Amino acid sequence: MCGIVGYIGSRPAAPILIKGLHQLEYRGYDSAGIAVGGPDHPQLQVFKAKGKVDNLEANVHRALPLPDTPLTTGIGHTRWATHGEPSETNAHPHLSMSGDLALVHNGIIENYQLLKEQLTEFGYTFKSQTDTEVLVQLIDYFYQKNGRQLTKAVHQALDKAIGAYAIVVMEKDDCRHLVAARKASPLVIGIGKDYSEFFIGSDATPLVEYTHKVIYLDDEQVADIRIGQEVQITNLDESSADVTIKDVDLDISALSKGGYPHFMLKEICEQPHCMENSMRGRVICREDGLYEIKLSALNHFKAKLIRARHVIIVACGTSWHAGLIGKQLIEEMCRIRVEVEYASEFRYRNPVIEKDDVVIAISQSGETADTLAAIQLAKEQGALVFGIVNGVGSSIARATDTGIYIHVGPEIGVASTKAFTGQVTVLTMLSLALAHALGTLSDEAFQQTCHELAAIPRKMETVLQQNDRIEQLSGRFTYARNFLYLGRGYNYPVALEGALKLKEISYIHAEGYPAAEMKHGPIALVDKEMPIVCLTAHDQLYRKVISNMQEVQSRNGRIFAVVTEGDDEVRRIAEEVIEIPDTMPCLLPLLSVIPMQLLAYHVAVKKGLDVDMPRNLAKSVTVE
Ligand code: GLU
Repeated sequence: MCGIVGYIGSRPAAPILIKGLHQLEYRGYDSAGIAVGGPDHPQLQVFKAKGKVDNLEANVHRALPLPDTPLTTGIGHTRWATHGEPSETNAHPHLSMSGDLALVHNGIIENYQLLKEQLTEFGYTFKSQTDTEVLVQLIDYFYQKNGRQLTKAVHQALDKAIGAYAIVVMEKDDCRHLVAARKASPLVIGIGKDYSEFFIGSDATPLVEYTHKVIYLDDEQVADIRIGQEVQITNLDESSADVTIKDVDLDISALSKGGYPHFMLKEICEQPHCMENSMRGRVICREDGLYEIKLSALNHFKAKLIRARHVIIVACGTSWHAGLIGKQLIEEMCRIRVEVEYASEFRYRNPVIEKDDVVIAISQSGETADTLAAIQLAKEQGALVFGIVNGVGSSIARATDTGIYIHVGPEIGVASTKAFTGQVTVLTMLSLALAHALGTLSDEAFQQTCHELAAIPRKMETVLQQNDRIEQLSGRFTYARNFLYLGRGYNYPVALEGALKLKEISYIHAEGYPAAEMKHGPIALVDKEMPIVCLTAHDQLYRKVISNMQEVQSRNGRIFAVVTEGDDEVRRIAEEVIEIPDTMPCLLPLLSVIPMQLLAYHVAVKKGLDVDMPRNLAKSVTVE
């Protein structure tokens, strides 16, 4: 949630900040702002706008003679409001009352009300409703009191603040200096040649154009960033910390739409290629034609993973749906009991975690605040924590004992698509490798599943060829106010995911249900207005799903069905059918989710909605 950028160096800061904010806009987009300063500039200049970064850019262009402004220091923010409505006043950066400091902040200061009261007693006044403004005034309080030493003042203020944050602070007096800090929200510092300039971002995407040398700030650390010097990092208790500079490897072309009208469509269509990336070097076909699965994450912890009698999957949103598929895969192949938990519930519930349990944390960004907190809890109780994330070097990747990257490249569209299939691919490989080690799957079944897994990317391409048809028929459903999605077995989580996709980007209320559960309530909603998406497959539940569809048909529901190629029976019941290639039941979600993604996408486009940045949402949920 929220994107943060920062720059110090000799180039004009504003264009760099605005470009960076555009790249981070998927993280939050209800308002945006920058503060810039430079040598010989008596004041920090702040520009803000409600809404998207484009609005901010227009304001800045009107006011600043770009690009030859000597304002070479700055910070920027694109907001996902938690405290105070989205408005220009509440947009970041926030200035301290003295005008000496400017701050951008991602996260929540939980005790802001108390701090505000105390600062009010000291004469501070506030313009916005945000918790962030309280923090900048608190830093200012210590800054004025202690001889204008910014890093020290940040330490003192953070000592009093409770909550989660990534912050960057700049000072009017010294435009060669920025201070950054984080607790439970991500922050990356990019280092320019010979420390002549620095770039800061919530993730590495806005930095890679300028440098590949980065420092991922660790939790509870404060960074003192000064032109011409190595970055000094201290822990919140003021002890000094080691600084590790890493090489970041990110393909810039992945950050553009590549000719597609939206990132979401691009990411849906990339799935065959992404899945190949996920499997590269992991699903291996040997010269003798037999398959093996190589997962380096398993090497070090194999004994512990094999000993596990209980697996707990923690995740949120789409990742939670992938977790439900993981449960079925692990239980079926490995015969280990699996529970799937919402990270936000798990972390506050005093759950039973035994020492030999394995906790699998799934998150696209690797920054999901609730999942991160669930990981800490699991670690405290002695469980082995295994991460499945996309964000390389992210907080979850670093907080877990071991794990597997899904390697699907940056996902920019707020509604997750390729990350879901990447997560399911990794869960499948993990289940296969574990089952092989445990001896719970016959060699024949192992070989057959690996062979079929390797064939899925080509089959995904066949499903994607139906894009035009799905686009055409989506126009018939834009009127709907409610949708029902039904599936069973491996298709049940896909029904949940299909409903979530539609809700997220088309703002149509949708519910996913196990098909047979429909009789216990939702069937009351079915009438001739109600579109019902039915996921069927040639598995052992096929006949049962047909019966469920007939129950819907008898009540005049409009059935849109996803079927296996050549299925004539469903065609007689459903108003529309989309065919997908035949596959094994356990691999079905990798194919059946694609029509769900395309349907949601085209309905939203037809309704004229912003599919890449749907209202009220943000990509990386770094607040709890
Ligand atoms: N709590 C802050 C606000 O509402 C920051 C929100 C964010 O992370 O964008 O302004």
